Amino acid sequence: MNIYNITFEELEEYFIKNNDKKFKATQVFDWVYKKRINNFDEMRNVSKSTIDCMKKDFYFEKLEIIEKLEDKDVKKYLFRLNDNEKIEAVVMYHDYGLSLCISTQVGCNMGCKFCESGRLKKVRNLEVYEMVTQILMIEEDINQRISHIVLMGIGEPFDNYDNVIKFIDIINCGKGIDIGSRHITVSTCGIVPKIKEFTNYDKQVNLAISLHAPNNTLRSTIMNINKVYPIEDIISSIKKYIEKTGRRVTFEYIMLKDVNDSKSCALELSKLLKGINCYVNLIPYNETTHIEYKKSTQDSIMQFYDVLKKNNIGVTIRREFGSNVKAACGQLRSHYEEVV
Ligand code: SAH
Repeated sequence: MNIYNITFEELEEYFIKNNDKKFKATQVFDWVYKKRINNFDEMRNVSKSTIDCMKKDFYFEKLEIIEKLEDKDVKKYLFRLNDNEKIEAVVMYHDYGLSLCISTQVGCNMGCKFCESGRLKKVRNLEVYEMVTQILMIEEDINQRISHIVLMGIGEPFDNYDNVIKFIDIINCGKGIDIGSRHITVSTCGIVPKIKEFTNYDKQVNLAISLHAPNNTLRSTIMNINKVYPIEDIISSIKKYIEKTGRRVTFEYIMLKDVNDSKSCALELSKLLKGINCYVNLIPYNETTHIEYKKSTQDSIMQFYDVLKKNNIGVTIRREFGSNVKAACGQLRSHYEEVV
């Protein structure tokens, strides 16, 4: 097994099963995630027999960085996976720290009309190690620690639920990379059964919902998933999520020119979200060459913002990063797939 696929608890069980001591898991996690070794022989305080046992059952394997694009406060990476598939990750420099946007699948099957990632259909889910090593490799490349993780790269995290949860368990573990749960955000297009499952997940991870429209008629024209899980189902599962976890939810709303950015959409959205412990993150759309949607004007974004504010809905406008580095979700990968 790839060493980056195993959780701390599983590693403890592994040692118990192998008649070794449970605390070896602490030592191994320390070497792998704090000291960042690439070879079990480097574990100087671990007995030879344990090292031999580990070598028999585990190996180190990461990804390959094949392209890196940089702009002000942003670096975008294209990775080659071991079966030659490609994914991307983006690191953003904020005043509060470094946040890394990672991919969860190769391609995506959700079919959102505005999204570049979905133009190339899903090939497969990412393995746990393929998510974990996006962090390790980028930290190594920039020689800095990432403080925040957002699961907003290529793919639908809740369509790869088990691996995503395992990934969060590994990176959140205090014995390892130790990224605080409140610094981790999962974004979903609204897969209701998984929102329900996530409600019972015991970590205080942030949840963001890609809503993008205030009613089913409009949402179904831009997001196929809405035909399966309409807005009322999302809202009712989110209400239960908030009731159980006490956590505030983010609704993401891409501003698409003349599609969903009118004053009446803002009013309708205010009504829909009234009384829910949430805030809306308005996302200026990143235009891409293959898709006809355009970005809303600054004026309509401000008007939309003002309507939500006046109606007491918490609202922020997402800072724009990397429009010069093919930052739109999936854009670097699809560019690469076409030119190669
Ligand atoms: N599948 C998940 C997470 C990945 S997409 C989800 O749907 O939430 C992350 C966010 O980027 C989503 O809100 C998605 O709708 C948005 N997005 C996709 N393409 C975009 C673009 N070209 N410009 C701005 N945001 C985009």
